[in-house]
Amino acid sequence: MAECIFCKIARGEIPSKKVFENDQVIVFHDIKPVAPVHVLIVPKKHVSDLLSLEQDANGPAIAWTLFQAAAEAAGKLGVDKKGFRLINNCGEDGGQTVDHIHLHLIGGKPLGEGLI
Ligand code: 5GP
Ligand code: ZN
Repeated sequence: MAECIFCKIARGEIPSKKVFENDQVIVFHDIKPVAPVHVLIVPKKHVSDLLSLEQDANGPAIAWTLFQAAAEAAGKLGVDKKGFRLINNCGEDGGQTVDHIHLHLIGGKPLGEGLI
């Protein structure tokens, strides 16, 4: 996916404020944070959204990789003790603006019980 912004970040062609990366995943700070901690957890393989992931033979492995990376990022960012929220926006009504699946990890303050 030559023009995908998250693929470019994963390849290092666009700079990002990286938390960590491995062979499967990259975690970096969102450019427009909505909370004191706001990072994106992005698989290096281009998969456009959750519905595509469900159709991907490697979907289960990628999904687990994303959750593992989220837990690792929470520890590295110091939000593991007080908690955090994971969000996946899917499609137009879901508010997805980058068509490369990702989790938002937000925290660093009480987020309340409401989701919207
Ligand atoms: P979505 O709306 O698709 O769930 O989330 C996309 C997120 O990517 C947004 O929160 C947006 O601020 C972030 N974003 C878009 N472009 C860039 C970029 O070039 N660098 C970084 N670090 N974040 C980006
Ligand atoms: Zn991509």
